[in-house]
Amino acid sequence: MAGYEMDDVTIVGGGPAGCFLGENLAKKGFEVTILEEHPEIGQPMCCAGILGTERLKEIGLNSEDWCLTKLRGGIFHSPSGDSVELTRDQIEAHVIDRAKFDRSLAEKAVRAGAKIKLRSRCKEISRHDAGVSLKVKTPGGIENLKSQIAVGADGTNSLVARNCGLLKNFSPKACAQAEIAGKIETHKANVYLGNDLSRSFFGWVVPSGEVYRVGIGDKKGNPLRKLIKLIERANLLPQNPGKKIVRFTTGLIPEPSGRKIYGDRVILVGDAAGHVKPLTGGGLYLGLSCTKIASKIATKALEDEPSEENLEEYENAVQEKFGQEFRLGNRARKMLEKMSDDDLSEFLELMTLPKIRELILEHAAFDRHSDLFKALIKEGPSLIEAVGARNLMKYVNWFTDI
Ligand SMILES: Cc1cc2nc3c(=O)[nH]c(=O)nc-3n(C[C@H](O)[C@H](O)[C@H](O)COP(=O)(O)OP(=O)(O)OC[C@H]3O[C@@H](n4cnc5c(N)ncnc54)[C@H](O)[C@@H]3O)c2cc1C
Repeated sequence: MAGYEMDDVTIVGGGPAGCFLGENLAKKGFEVTILEEHPEIGQPMCCAGILGTERLKEIGLNSEDWCLTKLRGGIFHSPSGDSVELTRDQIEAHVIDRAKFDRSLAEKAVRAGAKIKLRSRCKEISRHDAGVSLKVKTPGGIENLKSQIAVGADGTNSLVARNCGLLKNFSPKACAQAEIAGKIETHKANVYLGNDLSRSFFGWVVPSGEVYRVGIGDKKGNPLRKLIKLIERANLLPQNPGKKIVRFTTGLIPEPSGRKIYGDRVILVGDAAGHVKPLTGGGLYLGLSCTKIASKIATKALEDEPSEENLEEYENAVQEKFGQEFRLGNRARKMLEKMSDDDLSEFLELMTLPKIRELILEHAAFDRHSDLFKALIKEGPSLIEAVGARNLMKYVNWFTDI
């Protein structure tokens, strides 16, 4: 057994959230160690890599730097086989090289003074009055680390969350994604809806430079079988797509905002905290934005006392900034989950109505879905004519019945 080391902060997980927090805290002068179980940052990668162009700048990052493809909107494919295109003239999002993105965040963390320990898997974490102890499996054997505070940046199935009693209900969406060689000159992502494909999520085909990313997620069932079905259904793929798979990965998307994210001497960030958009599961912008909040609160707590009471401010600040995003997004997701295939097809057809289309194109923001939900709620009465009173009541009931 190696000896003890004492840091201010140990971050478990060298993904985007862990590295971004590491950079921010190291810049403030804290001793930070980031533990990453894999031999390389950014691998294995399971992500469609879609990032809104505008919001990320708010946290000092520019998605243009890792861009593979630019998107102007999406095509939504209904179970009946119809499709609805919603695009704007301007670029809405970038499809990024996720591995490069993760590596650049790690490099920034190291430049700021954080240490990254690769091949270092946290096996156990315990908290006591003097600090936090972490048992870490490394190629050289078990190491015991100590710090003032521990951060769970270790993804959906967070060991830190489980060890610290912060993860009670675990019902993630299991996803599978393939990268298929081929290029389409399009600026649109494709979204596939239908209960035969996924009851609680959706499938996607996203042009990503020299490949397409084809993926699907669901709470139940075998994601690989669902992916094969999607590949068969998505006729925009090249011929014999199965023979052109260059990469296949699986991953989990957490239940959005369903966890306690702080405790005595511990906080969770990113997917470990459930900081993902409820409707699409996208967690890069939301996770990093909440991580920025975590950095501020952790700084204050480290300068005072990293007690549960002081760290509670993190949850309050996240709810203040994104509470409505989580609440409305969760309602919209649950509403979609209640729909039969006929309902889904009918719902997508509504998007072809000029009034609805206008509202979507005016208010839909890639990384902030609540703007559109609020506009739809506000405009509700004026939609009666276009949607029909009975239909509108049906959607209102689904949306409010949680
Ligand atoms: C199929 C799929 C598609 C997605 N597409 C998009 C998208 O298009 N846009 C978007 O914004 N988001 C997308 N997401 C979500 C996005 O990938 C996540 O929100 C993001 O990766 C979260 O970053 P993170 O740092 O919190 O966690 P992760 O990226 O999961 O990183 C956690 C890190 O912790 C390490 N780790 C775990 N346990 C331990 C341990 N015990 N000890 C040491 N290290 C450990 C892991 O190896 C990993 O490197 C997608 C997710 C999936 C599954």
